[in-house]
Amino acid sequence: MEIGQKNHKCVGNTSMFENALEEFSHAAEKIKIDSDVLEMLTQPKRAIEFSIPVKMDSGKIKVFIGYRIQFNNLLGPMKGGIRFHPKVCADEVEALAFLMTWKCAISDIPFGGAKGGIVVDPKELSKSELEALSRGYMAAVAPFIGPKTDIPAPDINTNAQIMAWMSDEYNKIAGQNEPAAITGKPIVLGGSLGRDTATGQGGIFALLEVAKVIDLPGKTVAIQGFGNAGSNFAEILEKEGKFKIVAVSDSKGGIYDPDGLDISELIRHKKTTGRVSRFNNSQEITGEELLELDVDVLVPAALENQITKENADKIKAKLIIELANGPTTFEADEILFKNGNIVVPDIFANSGGVIVSYFEWVQNNTRHYWSAEEVHEKLREKMTCNFKRLFEYSEKHNISFRTSAYIQAIEKMIEAVKLK
Ligand code: GLU
Repeated sequence: MEIGQKNHKCVGNTSMFENALEEFSHAAEKIKIDSDVLEMLTQPKRAIEFSIPVKMDSGKIKVFIGYRIQFNNLLGPMKGGIRFHPKVCADEVEALAFLMTWKCAISDIPFGGAKGGIVVDPKELSKSELEALSRGYMAAVAPFIGPKTDIPAPDINTNAQIMAWMSDEYNKIAGQNEPAAITGKPIVLGGSLGRDTATGQGGIFALLEVAKVIDLPGKTVAIQGFGNAGSNFAEILEKEGKFKIVAVSDSKGGIYDPDGLDISELIRHKKTTGRVSRFNNSQEITGEELLELDVDVLVPAALENQITKENADKIKAKLIIELANGPTTFEADEILFKNGNIVVPDIFANSGGVIVSYFEWVQNNTRHYWSAEEVHEKLREKMTCNFKRLFEYSEKHNISFRTSAYIQAIEKMIEAVKLK
């Protein structure tokens, strides 16, 4: 039996949770908030850590470590994805659950925040091992989740197939069909049209709204990360035709072409070769170099802690759309604000995913399904409306979008605490 890897201490020196707390505290200091309420809002409700034994194809048992952290349910059942990644650790999952709480609050959807993860590189597993791991995860968390308590969804390296296995496992345990217990499912199992592209689409709505109110010198875009969020964002942006994507990277490296990349072709290239690099005549660059390119819009769509105090001064993009969760450290955020770079924060910029998850949950609960156009229009309406609130608040108080987002979310939460 192999012993599963347990990332108690997360890789690197930066605690993602401490970083998120710093951002939160920076906003909380600007409003009157009682210390007991503050304590309530910064402690997770429940943290579950468990082992998942999986019989591998070799016949040997391997034990994986899983987490589900349920942060806050003041505004409704908790909501958040499940990440499969070798760097998953308790600190990261806690930070992501904390971010989900604020994301749902400012998105104006009736959910609290949670997050889950497994320490695993899914690319090293066969399909049957991946299925056993996904089912094992659900078997472990099933007593703690459900359509009225906590609703998981996809995140990095998880997809509709994995949600299908998890949903099936949940239904078996519950002894009934409960599609609303998990979102991001395949359409035939109660998924919503538009959910697979929702994070990218939401990011596009965010970009288009911001571009209306700020002066962008040009139209060039660089995207770090080419997973679900990054690649859908790129594909939709190309179709929009208003911007030029000049650089893209994934975990294996990046490419740059000042004349613009053909995204449909790049998606085909990535499908066949498993990477974006070595594409046509583009220049090879690293993911770090991509961040410092002389472009107008930078879209971090990969992992956390990418823009730090070490490289923040070198960022040339006027506008940063945070499609990833937590890509900018607190210190970097302050440098960017001082330098005049405009950061559209993760909890708004990537909220399209959870907003359409909410739509999926509503459709499951009502057993009434919407057309792709309905989903698209409802997402547009939410993103536009949420941005308007954010923009007006930051203009009025002369503060960053991130601080405005946190203040608005905290005020909503305080109101709920008082009423309860
Ligand atoms: N994992 C996505 C996020 O970070 C979506 C969560 C959800 O749909 O519940 O926002």
